[in-house]
Amino acid sequence: MYDALTTSYRFACPVRGETRVRLSSFRYLQRLPGPAHPSVYSVRFECPCGDDHQTLVAHGDLDWAPLGLGDGEFVNLMTDKTEPIAADLVELAARHIGEGDWPWSFYCFGEDRPRPIFPSSFVVLAPATTRALLALAVGCPSCGGVSVNIVSTDHVDLPFHHDREVAVVPHLFEVDVLRTVETFREELYSDSLDIRRLQLG
Ligand SMILES: [Zn+2]
Ligand SMILES: [Zn+2]
Repeated sequence: MYDALTTSYRFACPVRGETRVRLSSFRYLQRLPGPAHPSVYSVRFECPCGDDHQTLVAHGDLDWAPLGLGDGEFVNLMTDKTEPIAADLVELAARHIGEGDWPWSFYCFGEDRPRPIFPSSFVVLAPATTRALLALAVGCPSCGGVSVNIVSTDHVDLPFHHDREVAVVPHLFEVDVLRTVETFREELYSDSLDIRRLQLG
């Protein structure tokens, strides 16, 4: 489902049959209720075909696959053979994390500090008109508050890539308020933004 080389997910598309999207094309994430282990997330994503589609993503595919901690494969362009990618990436991820560099982070407005997260903490992603930036609503795993950061797409798509500074919308959000992008954008543009440094540790 996840291809570490292109940092993209392969999902079903009713128009194209199959499509590839990066994390920054996700729009809404919601953990399905119930005791399912591992837990499953309902994900709405923006497809290159022009429509949004809904799909289910297992917790591991969401949080661990981008780090290579799954059954990843890639086509080696030099040998034209399919080879496992996991070992290299696992080593790289373990080294980063061992050095205190977490794969994803955000600035929690409620706690006024940066916090480490996984993609399963993403709630809503709303692209800016320029497309290079997006508003990222995150449910803080530490305090439970929902904060909105304005970040680059790389900040979302590439594990261990952190924007040095992010803009923080200076109030906490209700999860329910975020359920439609329209409401979300109104909220977003009704406030002036704070620029905060995003440095963990
Ligand atoms: Zn599609
Ligand atoms: Zn927090």
